[in-house]
Amino acid sequence: RAKRDHRGQYLQYADQMGTEARARARLLSELRDAIEKQQLFLVYQPQLELGTRQVTGLEALLRWRTEDQRFIPPDQFIPVAEHSGLIVALGQWVLETACATMRELLDAGLAPRRMAVNVSTVQLRDPGFFDLVCAALAAHGLQGRHLELEITESVAALPTQLLDLTLCALRAEGISIAIDDFGTGYSSLSYLERLPLDRIKIDRSFTRQLGDPHGARIAEMVAQLGRKLGLSVLAEGIEDAAAWHALRAMGCHEGQGYHIARPMDKAALLPWLGQHAHLQAA
Ligand code: C2E
Ligand code: MG
Ligand code: MG
Ligand code: MG
Repeated sequence: RAKRDHRGQYLQYADQMGTEARARARLLSELRDAIEKQQLFLVYQPQLELGTRQVTGLEALLRWRTEDQRFIPPDQFIPVAEHSGLIVALGQWVLETACATMRELLDAGLAPRRMAVNVSTVQLRDPGFFDLVCAALAAHGLQGRHLELEITESVAALPTQLLDLTLCALRAEGISIAIDDFGTGYSSLSYLERLPLDRIKIDRSFTRQLGDPHGARIAEMVAQLGRKLGLSVLAEGIEDAAAWHALRAMGCHEGQGYHIARPMDKAALLPWLGQHAHLQAA
């Protein structure tokens, strides 16, 4: 009987795998189609200095709106793009588009210090990545300091030498490196300590727990850790004034979240930046 159960479970598992693989394959072909039909676009979420309210940066976030006006969240399609390798071309498009927007903002006198772009570990694995980034900057007359790249703790899976070389080369150009979703990954502290980084982004899951004393202590520890590593600390997911003040008191330098501004498309971004121009960091 035990044996039958075991086999039954196995079959159910295999069936589920088949269903998931099919769903992934379908999403992938829809994504390829969507890229062709230009259904993907970027939105931009402001980043602020918590002490001065100065706008310091913008994070570019990918959006997919289908023909029937449905939104497919990036958490759903980015893993599929990574799995298939499509993220390399898609990520390059994101980089180019974000650089083009930064150029426009500079020309309009509305640009904050930097544009932050999410980079998948799959992109970083490509030895040509550094050259592609430099080409995107040059194509839009940008300097390295105009760009920040957000990487995740999953870079720990890359060969150390390749990663070190790439990150050092990027930083030598003036490009800053942030570690995204900090505290949620499995990489060891000693590993993170060795990486050439500029900033940590405290994951939203910590910001969300600020109301609870235990959660607040954890958030404070994460912020302290970033500061002790000599890094700038940015908190994600600030949804109310209380979180803003708590995080500021914990020594977070910067923040982003719905309380400050939602991610905006370019049409909404320009007027928003215009209204906040008096709070631009030089
Ligand atoms: P992320 O880089 O950690 O981005 C932050 C996410 O939190 C965004 O979700 C943003 O819309 C959301 N968010 C910001 N403020 C708040 C808030 O106050 N409350 C709440 N509840 N959420 C907030 P989004 O845009 O759905 O992106 C999800 C993830 O998808 C991103 O997480 C990033 O890992 C990935 N992603 C998005 N665009 C790209 C891209 O161009 N390339 C790559 N490789 N990944 C991307
Ligand atoms: Mg990010
Ligand atoms: Mg994040
Ligand atoms: Mg995240």
